[in-house]
Amino acid sequence: MPTSSLNPHLPFGENKNAEWYGKDIISVKQFKREDLEYIFGVAHEMRGMVERIGTFDLLKGKILANLFYEPSTRTSSSFTAAMERLGGSVIPINEVKYSSVSKGESLPDTVRTLECYADVIVLRHPETGSAAIAAKAARKPVINAGDGVGEHPTQALLDTFTIFEELGAGQVDGMTVTMLGDLKYGRTVHSLARLLSLFKVKINYVSPDILKMPKEVMDEVAVKGIPQAEFGSLEKVLPETDVLYVTRVQKERFEDPADYEKVKGAYVIDPIVMKAAKKDMIVMHPLPRVGEISVDFDDDPRAAYFRQMEYGLYVRMALLAMVLGKA
Ligand code: ASP
Repeated sequence: MPTSSLNPHLPFGENKNAEWYGKDIISVKQFKREDLEYIFGVAHEMRGMVERIGTFDLLKGKILANLFYEPSTRTSSSFTAAMERLGGSVIPINEVKYSSVSKGESLPDTVRTLECYADVIVLRHPETGSAAIAAKAARKPVINAGDGVGEHPTQALLDTFTIFEELGAGQVDGMTVTMLGDLKYGRTVHSLARLLSLFKVKINYVSPDILKMPKEVMDEVAVKGIPQAEFGSLEKVLPETDVLYVTRVQKERFEDPADYEKVKGAYVIDPIVMKAAKKDMIVMHPLPRVGEISVDFDDDPRAAYFRQMEYGLYVRMALLAMVLGKA
């Protein structure tokens, strides 16, 4: 836990020597285990502050540009809420078709423009590698909010924070995490598998044959000595699972719509299926869901996916405070 630096009544300057000041957040590969402990300590403190006083002035006067080239509900609105809860403000660009992007402006030029007005840029873009390109062009910090099928590092951080808060930080080592659904195109699982490889976990991948976890990700995880296994059905691994991470089949990424039709309803989590699972496990989902978790399961205490969204607010508050030199 860091020493408290979040008292809103103290007059703060930026700490330009802070480790995360001015840094980009592009990939989970940037993080070591100690970094996660630090981020989650700050996020935990943010949670306490929000519960006690709601909004406070840690980032007063700071501006975030929220630049989204792809649809988003949670990531975009939680970054907005995070900035506003910290007393800062937001330039929202959710409809790039109404911005100069539709006139053919390049990503580096758009980013160079926004950093004239904002202190930090959050970017979602359909192309893998776009966040790194933007970060190269910008002098101000860029935070990757999803780059195509590449990564979604802030989602993986909030997912891991959810596991810490729900099941206990000390419990992560020794856990079995089962990822289910579209592991090929789902960027959240690409980031999460890499991030969890900082812990002594076991990872099961359950997917249709055409949606398997990419070899590149599995190879990176294997280098860390993490046991991994692939399955076509959930049955065998559900009873040993501590965290079941369900994903949506990413319709928008399929080249052939017929392939999507073949796999779209492959798995459905409902109260009957969940009878085979432990009592003290959790079910997570980055959301949106499109049928892969039945609403009948929502009232089960193991359904953590709505709480997971709230944890995202605290993690994003922590990240903004860190890259702006205030935590
Ligand atoms: N919201 C997550 C993402 O942007 C998951 C999803 O869309 O299925 O990757």
